[in-house]
Amino acid sequence: MSRLVCGTCGLRLPAGSSLLQCSCGGLLEARPSPPFRGRRLRSTFDQRLATGDPTGEGSGVWRFRELLLPGRGVLISHPEGNTRLYRRDELSRWAGVADLALKHEGENPTGSFKDRGMTVAVTQAVRAGATALSCASTGNTSASLAAYAAQAGVPALVFVPRAKVAAGKLAQALCYGARVLEVRGDFDACLRLVREASAELGLTLLNSVNPWRIEGQKTIVLEMLQQRGWEPPDWIVVPAGNLGNTAAFGKALVEARELGLISRLPRLAAIQAAGAAPFYHSFRSAFKRRFRVRAETVATAIRIGDPVSYDRAARAIQQTRGVVAAVSDREILAAKAVVDGAGIGCEPASAASLAGLRQLVRRGIVGRRDSVVAVLTGHLLKDPHATRAAPTAIAPRIAEVERVLKGMRK
Ligand SMILES: *Cc1c(COP(=O)(O)O)cnc(C)c1O
Ligand SMILES: [Zn+2]
Repeated sequence: MSRLVCGTCGLRLPAGSSLLQCSCGGLLEARPSPPFRGRRLRSTFDQRLATGDPTGEGSGVWRFRELLLPGRGVLISHPEGNTRLYRRDELSRWAGVADLALKHEGENPTGSFKDRGMTVAVTQAVRAGATALSCASTGNTSASLAAYAAQAGVPALVFVPRAKVAAGKLAQALCYGARVLEVRGDFDACLRLVREASAELGLTLLNSVNPWRIEGQKTIVLEMLQQRGWEPPDWIVVPAGNLGNTAAFGKALVEARELGLISRLPRLAAIQAAGAAPFYHSFRSAFKRRFRVRAETVATAIRIGDPVSYDRAARAIQQTRGVVAAVSDREILAAKAVVDGAGIGCEPASAASLAGLRQLVRRGIVGRRDSVVAVLTGHLLKDPHATRAAPTAIAPRIAEVERVLKGMRK
């Protein structure tokens, strides 16, 4: 049975515990103990992929269930995962590495990787008898929670920063039937409020302080490794905001090596927006200092000044000999234009990974011959206002179409 351990003081709790935080204030972590390891574990996962896995509902998350959540019971799954790896020459050329694949987590059911953590955490919450679910969100967490809460038939209360959530995400949360509270404050204020309110009012908190969110998000890395025949790339590049993914990726990699799924660790590169880069500043101080900033960036999904998974993300970077970089909004939008122009598309925060990769190659940190997987975290439609181009208005006449066409052929 996998159990929960406090990452700060080491206290142990049973996995079925409804506690999400230790009495010392530390965050809890799951310690999975699968019934077998190595080749046998790998072939269990590979067989489910090949034959469809009816008990895991064909989900790219539950395929790895021995490493996620112990016990049996209801499964709240859409299903999710099974996202593609894209290779495009123009993206490789732009970033400066020959061997580049983009894993598009925007292909999850609600359009972001948050679904992978949410299916596990909502399943655990329902099994533990939760009566109401809550989260703070820059948008995607609320969209995802709203969908899984609707499927589970449990009410959801989401806290978002007023006027700072992209239109697509807000529409999702409302349509799926969550009660949306617009807080006059930033994301960090929303998170403080929801943590207090949830503890006081008996709501089950579904932010990435919830250890089961992290367990589900490990499957981004596990699925990518499986897609590569369990041959790890040299680098994995990921946008970094609240640092749940950075922490989950490090945990997945360390566990995968301990269990004999892979024999060497890829290096992690976490990419922040320059206007929301407390983790980058900490990295530059060799993690001697923890920074908190007032965050501002076009990439609203990573507009976070006081990341909650700071400690475990720092550990992930250290364990994988990883790096943290910061990219300007201009670099982010340039990268987004390249991803969009390749016919793939993503939301602004997602493009931070490609922008960061290009910068790391130019600085000589990532080698031009290294193999790289960069994660695109969210779908293009999430943020319909982050477009550079505008439509061309015309009168309904052929001559006008002809005029436009001539302009295009130049
Ligand atoms: C949540 C989110 C992020 C940030 O991930 P963290 O785990 O908070 O670092 C990045 N991009 C998108 C699209 C997101 O929804
Ligand atoms: Zn503790």
